Amino acid sequence: MLSFRAFVLGDGMSHIARLGISSCLLGERVRWNGGHKGDEGWLAAWAGRVEWVSVCPERELGLGVPREPIHLRRGEGGVRLVGVRSGRELGPAMASFAAHRARELAALDLDGFVLKSRSPSCGLAGLPVHDERGELVLSEDGIGRFAAGLQAELPDLLLAEERELLAVDRRETFLARAALLRRAKRMLASASSSEPPRRFLAIEAARLRAIDPLLGAELLALVDRALDADALARSYLARLQRALVASARDPSTGA
Ligand code: SF4
Repeated sequence: MLSFRAFVLGDGMSHIARLGISSCLLGERVRWNGGHKGDEGWLAAWAGRVEWVSVCPERELGLGVPREPIHLRRGEGGVRLVGVRSGRELGPAMASFAAHRARELAALDLDGFVLKSRSPSCGLAGLPVHDERGELVLSEDGIGRFAAGLQAELPDLLLAEERELLAVDRRETFLARAALLRRAKRMLASASSSEPPRRFLAIEAARLRAIDPLLGAELLALVDRALDADALARSYLARLQRALVASARDPSTGA
């Protein structure tokens, strides 16, 4: 069976996509200790193919650089985001920042977001959750508070941690999914409002059927319906985006 990567590569399209990214992964010195987590080799692999939108939730929240490190703690009221030394509560402020920033990012029309793993703000999964005193690790099932807010506000945004994208196949597949979405957006945006690009969408949907038969059939049915250009564009993109996110979360779809 074809993969999303083969589909895009087979079409000869460029892999240009617009992706959000945790700022420290770009080499920006925004970590709590003034350092970064940029890796030249890893960044070079994306070069020229991605427009990055840099976001550092902790800096943008006004915590400063350098700053007190923060972590997750479980107490009676659930899991909290607090300062490691001071115990200062940051969860509500981060949740409200995440909701606000996610709306701004939606307006920037991102195709996906690469998040820094193991961060109590940006990590998507598997974060240490400490006890109420911050001394013992109780579990390794925490999610970063910014990442949680981003997911809640933009559930159909493609997300991945950078550690998932170290392998070439995983990275290229992630990028192919994002690029596929960008291509559809570009085509729909450039279409005339009176004449939606039904032919392009029909060809695209028919080819997608080789990767995901149900998705392809649903998209073809959408194209056949007598929707006006705006309604068709909204429905087509929403369905495509949901399918891309679902396939990214399905380990069986791999590369
Ligand atoms: S992990 Fe997120 S919050 Fe921490 S420095 Fe990087 S971008 Fe900022």
